[in-house]
Amino acid sequence: MPEPRPARFLVLGGDAAGMTAATHVRRAVPEAEVVVVERGPYTSYSMCGIPYYVADTIHDAEDLVVRSPHEHRAAGITVHMETEALAIDAEARTVRVRAAGPAAPRAGEWDLPYDALLYAVGAHPKLPKVPGVAEYGVVVHTLDEGERLKGLLDELEPEGAIVVVGGGYIGLELAEALVVRGFKAVLLDRSPQVMKPLDPDMAEHVEQRLVEFGITVCLGEELREVQGVDGRCTAVVTSKGTHPAELVIVAAGSAPHVEMAQAAGCALGDSGAVVVDPRMRTTVAGIWAAGDVVESVNLVNGSRRNVQLGTHANKQGKVAGIDIAAALRGEEQTVAAFEGHVGTAITKVCEWEIARTGLTERECAEDGIGYAAVAFESTVTAGYFPEPGRVWVKMLAEEGSGRILGVQLVGNGGNSGKRIDVAATWCQLGVTVQRAQFLDLSYAPPFGGVWDILQVGARKLVRELGLQPQL
Ligand SMILES: Cc1cc2nc3c(=O)[nH]c(=O)nc-3n(C[C@H](O)[C@H](O)[C@H](O)COP(=O)(O)OP(=O)(O)OC[C@H]3O[C@@H](n4cnc5c(N)ncnc54)[C@H](O)[C@@H]3O)c2cc1C
Repeated sequence: MPEPRPARFLVLGGDAAGMTAATHVRRAVPEAEVVVVERGPYTSYSMCGIPYYVADTIHDAEDLVVRSPHEHRAAGITVHMETEALAIDAEARTVRVRAAGPAAPRAGEWDLPYDALLYAVGAHPKLPKVPGVAEYGVVVHTLDEGERLKGLLDELEPEGAIVVVGGGYIGLELAEALVVRGFKAVLLDRSPQVMKPLDPDMAEHVEQRLVEFGITVCLGEELREVQGVDGRCTAVVTSKGTHPAELVIVAAGSAPHVEMAQAAGCALGDSGAVVVDPRMRTTVAGIWAAGDVVESVNLVNGSRRNVQLGTHANKQGKVAGIDIAAALRGEEQTVAAFEGHVGTAITKVCEWEIARTGLTERECAEDGIGYAAVAFESTVTAGYFPEPGRVWVKMLAEEGSGRILGVQLVGNGGNSGKRIDVAATWCQLGVTVQRAQFLDLSYAPPFGGVWDILQVGARKLVRELGLQPQL
């Protein structure tokens, strides 16, 4: 009788979600075989650090790698690098893969069997369908693409103009990196505001700061064509005119990689991403999914959204790992669950901290939620300090109940943005403004006023909504 083979956990995608799950299962089920298939040359790296690498604040791409394939192998995980997953056969429980580079373990195509499969192949950048984009547009979604961009910048004359298409946080971070490197950065977006996850009044403060920093901001301009000569980009044509450009960087959002999961029978939700339950199980037996590929519940309004953030990918990978480990051990119940998100995000652009959580006015209006909003300016430290800094605060609460629906912060330094985590906790736990205004938050003059800015917002909303302070 042949020895029964050990249970095999197969992971597609060797970054945030995939490697978190692989590492957990490796530790929790020592007898299982853990195999990772990764198309690119890196595992477990910080995509979030790429703009800082492009800016040359981080000099070496390897510094963004948290754990190399070699380190994962030393920990007992089989890692097939430069190997691309092509198709899942959910019936046979195999995945068709092919060598995508010299680091692949073998040439050609072959099948890998699994008992449990984690689908964690992330998202891919969206390219506007206009002439010249495919030829000249540079995308920066993976570390090797970051290396390519840095190489291109090294070849260009400093002070040349570079157009960044997309005014989301990645576009903003890259535009800043270009100015830091001495280039003229032109930021282009068809929307009338930068940072669409903020309300327009808060986004205006960001736009003002970008301009002060030296970025040319062109809003309400639709990309029409990218022109070039002899393989080199020369200009970007928009609905409003032509911008000379030595390079065009496209940061126009990204879509979850769902095709393989969908072909295997996994249901997709209205967001277009893979449907999972709180244990990260897809609708197909034996297949889990996590990270940028899935949708999750917004805990403020109950909608299901595809939120592509590293913070979720790591947590979802951990939950999937716990559930898969239990499944491989034949256990029915696990306690791990990814409850959902409240839309918390933070970035630092041109020395300003930008953060948001919960719902914006636009989202409340779309959902028909009755709300009141307050927006005000305050200081980062006590107002009597030299250079007390500036922070703009916007807070929304529900009519009637006073439940905090969302907070947006734009401030210059002093960790003003990280206050969003308190607000996120309030949104996730359904805290009301009546309660929030009296909660025990810290105070000392170098950190702000005696009433924290979030509690000032809560107090204003209590008045605005005509609520009685809760006893
Ligand atoms: C420039 C940039 C800055 C960011 N900054 C932040 C930030 O500040 N904060 C934050 O929370 N999030 C940030 N993010 C988002 C965050 O990096 C992602 O949400 C997170 O990496 C998603 O993890 P994942 O494991 O789902 O997917 P990924 O990290 O994309 O990993 C998927 C892996 O799958 C591999 N793969 C794809 N297709 C195949 C295939 N067919 N076969 C085999 N392998 C495949 C890819 O090569 C990749 O390594 C940023 C993203 C970018 C691009």
